[in-house]
Amino acid sequence: AKPHVVIVGGGAGGATAARYIAKDSDGAIDVTLIEPTRKYYTCFFSNLYIGGFRDFASIGHTYGGLASDYGVNVVHDWVIGVDRDAMTVTTAAGHSFGYDRLIVAPGIDFVEGSVPGWSTAAQNKMPHSWKAGSQTQLLKAQIEAMPEGGTYCMVAPPNPFRCPPGPYERVSMVAHVLKASNPTAKILIVDPKEKFSKQALFEEGWNKHYAGMIERVGPDFGGANVSVNPDAMEVDIDGTVEKVDVCNVIPAQKAGHIAHAMGLTNDSGFCPIDPATMQSQVDENIHVLGDATIAGDMPKSGFSANSQAKVAAMAVRGALTDSRVFPAKYSNTCWSLIDTEDGIKVGASYQATDEKIAKVDGFISQTGEDAALRKATFEESLGWYAGITADMFG
Ligand code: FAD
Repeated sequence: AKPHVVIVGGGAGGATAARYIAKDSDGAIDVTLIEPTRKYYTCFFSNLYIGGFRDFASIGHTYGGLASDYGVNVVHDWVIGVDRDAMTVTTAAGHSFGYDRLIVAPGIDFVEGSVPGWSTAAQNKMPHSWKAGSQTQLLKAQIEAMPEGGTYCMVAPPNPFRCPPGPYERVSMVAHVLKASNPTAKILIVDPKEKFSKQALFEEGWNKHYAGMIERVGPDFGGANVSVNPDAMEVDIDGTVEKVDVCNVIPAQKAGHIAHAMGLTNDSGFCPIDPATMQSQVDENIHVLGDATIAGDMPKSGFSANSQAKVAAMAVRGALTDSRVFPAKYSNTCWSLIDTEDGIKVGASYQATDEKIAKVDGFISQTGEDAALRKATFEESLGWYAGITADMFG
């Protein structure tokens, strides 16, 4: 029988791994991808949908191409457990799949109780919209229905979390919408972090495009001591209670639940990996990808997950079919849109050292750049989105 690779999760990491293993092994490896949803909505560009720069359909992707063009066996189901000795996974529908290598890419789940008063049961009153789909649509609808002069509040997450510039790009997109439809509205960011990704660039952009609209409360002013009351639509910041109209709670994060259930996480809530192969440090027959991992200097991004998936795919093919394995190289760029055609980016390349995935060199947009460069940066991000989603889903 051919060797069999089972992949848990068909997001940025899992879909890429499925496509690369199937494509590059030319049928020598059977690939099964297990993913509950039939349509995957990317978190990347979901902020642009909120800002009115993309329609919802354009961020949805299906798995038909992986099945028809690459022969991936796509199973829509939840993985609920693994038997690491027998090398089988089981699903909610009661199926069992044996594997020679297992790839686990379940993304994130939220740390319960990290924002007192909030739970997943309250996610319709106070959406997180940190997993894309109906949550993203709900948040956009709530922003558009805000009363004149109302307040949108974001409870920002502590490190580490998926997409470090994501909350601040989201604030930019919310401001873009409100500036046109509700110009006296206010944006309040409650933030437990001292500083954040591309901060100088975002703050410069907010002053330029949205002067007076955005207020950020950092940890010095109680940003790390926040609780919410979803029924009353109240946010308690260090004892001061604010009434808000929309409350976007982005809780603290941990590896997706199934990674914990499989015993792949450590005390940090994420999965330690071998920097050269993305193999789990607790089981060499399992590779972990994307947001669920402790990936050294790499941020949790779709670009990173895609890059890690290619390294893992090469290692898996090497192990199962003796194909050649090159030294691991990783890269990432995170683009953000501040306002129409005002795009910024930060990125780096990485290599595996004995200890971690280590940054080799990087780049970042500069404050004061002219409009033509910002427009070019934005246009680069459009090309990136088209290219990377094709690289994931075929
Ligand atoms: P995911 O893409 O979340 O995929 C995980 C998949 O696993 C899901 O489809 C889920 O259904 C499935 N799954 C979970 N549990 C199970 C189970 N038990 N059984 C089977 N399947 C399961 N990144 C960028 O590179 N650029 C950006 O511009 C960018 N913008 C962002 C903006 C926002 C608002 C947010 C929230 C994120 C953004 N990101 C961006 C980050 C990016 O979305 C994530 O880093 C990326 O999706 C991580 O990929 P992943 O494969 O680890 O997880």
